[in-house]
Amino acid sequence: MASYLDSVPFSGIIRIRDMMYSVKDPFRLDQGDVSFDAPASVKSAMRRAIEENKTHYLQTTGVPRLRELIAAKLRDKNQIPIEPDNDVEHVLVTNGGIHGLYIICRALLEPGDEVIIPDPEWPPAAGNILAAKGVPIPVPLHEAKGWRWDLDEVESAITPKTRVLYVNSPSNPTGGVLSRADLERLAAIANARDLWVISDEAYEDVVFDGEHVSIASLPGMYERTIPLYTFSKSYAMTGLRLGYVAIKDPKIRDRAKKILFYTASNIASVVQFGGIGALEGPQDCIEEFRTELRARRDLFYRGIDELSGDVLSGAPPAGAFYAFLRIDPRWTPGAPSTTSLSWRMTEYLIKHGRIGCVPGVDFGANGEGYLRFCFARDRKELTGAIESMKTLFGVAVGAGKAGGAG
Ligand code: PMP
Repeated sequence: MASYLDSVPFSGIIRIRDMMYSVKDPFRLDQGDVSFDAPASVKSAMRRAIEENKTHYLQTTGVPRLRELIAAKLRDKNQIPIEPDNDVEHVLVTNGGIHGLYIICRALLEPGDEVIIPDPEWPPAAGNILAAKGVPIPVPLHEAKGWRWDLDEVESAITPKTRVLYVNSPSNPTGGVLSRADLERLAAIANARDLWVISDEAYEDVVFDGEHVSIASLPGMYERTIPLYTFSKSYAMTGLRLGYVAIKDPKIRDRAKKILFYTASNIASVVQFGGIGALEGPQDCIEEFRTELRARRDLFYRGIDELSGDVLSGAPPAGAFYAFLRIDPRWTPGAPSTTSLSWRMTEYLIKHGRIGCVPGVDFGANGEGYLRFCFARDRKELTGAIESMKTLFGVAVGAGKAGGAG
């Protein structure tokens, strides 16, 4: 019974979290969580909701005021053609982005339908496709292209069974950001091959270089695109669990609504009022977080550059808050074994350096040979991790980029 779920893998992030509990004074660069606190506007709105006894059942798709604010945000900020007065019903409030993705996959996929995904990619993408009996088809991202797709390869991966393109820009784990030209070509492919697009824009506010463009804002694309957002990263609300999707097609939306109802009834009332506080309040935190994240990115990469012999290397990402770094195999600890290079290095860093990270292979076969570090942790934790790596691997001779003592 339900044996298809046996082939849905657990994310290695869970195994790493368990390993980290046995480490004293760890540097938790494995977790994709920001060290910031949610803004006062969120906390006071939640306190008020409790005082006002807003603790009862709500509309399945979300509190009307929250949906109204989200619809206006999608139009004004993301340039998606939604009329806040008429199209509020397009918006479905979800239990974080991960729940939104589950709902979309269930609403779009028939068993055996193929979904093109980036490789490497955040593991719940493949996991949710598989849980809906779909088939994820990984297409490599290329480090040399700033972790973007070769779009000819995307096109060649399309078969008669392909139904959906899953686009994630900025990307977890690589931090790659697709250009407007990339999105235009993807839009042309989706139109020509009659595909749906799931556009995961969890990191829409964390772009350091260039601009964030929603593929749903391109001409005619909202008809076939379901954009997916979360309050987790933009408002430091990871534990509160609040996300949303917008679906224009009434039939698909009704299917999604059923899954939303049967999995959640409605999203936690107090949290939804927190979301209203976030969108009604000052938006300064978004810029402040981005500025601080850029400083942390630069601090972390300076430290990595100072390690001897290019043990870890890679260019700073254009978006999101992850360093996805290539491991020099000559530095891999332990005797060669069946365990993958990225897992061996991860275990070594956890055991000997107290540094949490995630093996690249956990994000897809094309991620093997890399490690993901989250640089959204506070500066002290980042510096501690760098110092620990310097103890393990040594410091390059001379200043700047290594090439020093191997
Ligand atoms: N998409 C991507 C690419 C993510 O990295 C995340 C969070 N790690 C999410 C969606 C969803 O986040 P949440 O469930 O916290 O809203």
